[in-house]
Amino acid sequence: MPRYCPTCNRSEADVKFYGNFCEICAGEKLSEGLIDKVEIQKCKECQRIRVKGRFIGENRTNLEEALQQSFKNNHVHLVAYDAKEAITKVSVEGPDGKLTIDRKIKLKYTKTLCDRCYKVKCEYYEAVFQLRGDKNRIEKVIKHVTALFERNNEFISKMESKDGGIDVYLSSKRLATEFVAYYKLYPKMSYTLAGVKNGKKQYKNTYAIHL
Ligand SMILES: [Zn+2]
Ligand SMILES: [Zn+2]
Repeated sequence: MPRYCPTCNRSEADVKFYGNFCEICAGEKLSEGLIDKVEIQKCKECQRIRVKGRFIGENRTNLEEALQQSFKNNHVHLVAYDAKEAITKVSVEGPDGKLTIDRKIKLKYTKTLCDRCYKVKCEYYEAVFQLRGDKNRIEKVIKHVTALFERNNEFISKMESKDGGIDVYLSSKRLATEFVAYYKLYPKMSYTLAGVKNGKKQYKNTYAIHL
C-alpha cells in the first residue's frame, strides 16, 4: 500500500517522501522560515560586490558566498542568476533530516563606492616618487611601478611633470618602499606630516630618485 501525502494527496509511488509528507509539501513547510531576498553592496565604479567586508569580482562563486553569508547555517548552492534573481538549492535541516529545497531569491543591489574607488576618486596618495634624470629610465620606472601597483590592487593617483622630470603619486608607501628596495634606487627620503589617525601621526613619504 503506497502512502499518500496528507496535504496534497500525492502518492509515494510518484514523489519522494520526507517524514509523513511528500517532499514538495515538506519543502514548502521548511522554506517558510527562509529569507527570499538578499541585499548585496556593489561598487558603482568597478562593479565588484562586497563579501565578508571585502570587494571582489561578481561571478558565480563569489555571489554564492554572498548568499551563503545571509543563509548562515543552511548551505546554499547557486544554480543560476541574473541581475534581479538567483535560483538556488538550499539544504535545510528539518525534524526528519536534511532536505534540499529549490529557492528563488530576489537580489537587491545597493550602489556604493569601494575603498579603492573612493581613494582613486579623491586622488589619495601616501607616497611620491620624484623621478629626475634620464628620460628613458624614468619611463621604465613608471612602467614597472604601474604594473606592481596594479598587481597589488593599488594605483597611481596622478602624475605631474616637474623640474624636467616627473612626480608620481602612489597609493601605498609600503609598496613604494618595496619597489625602491627591489630596484636598488637609493632614493633621498623626506617625510611630510599628513595628519593623525587613531592617535598616531601619519606621514607621506617623498622619494627623490635620480636616474
Ligand atoms: Zn504533498
Ligand atoms: Zn570599486
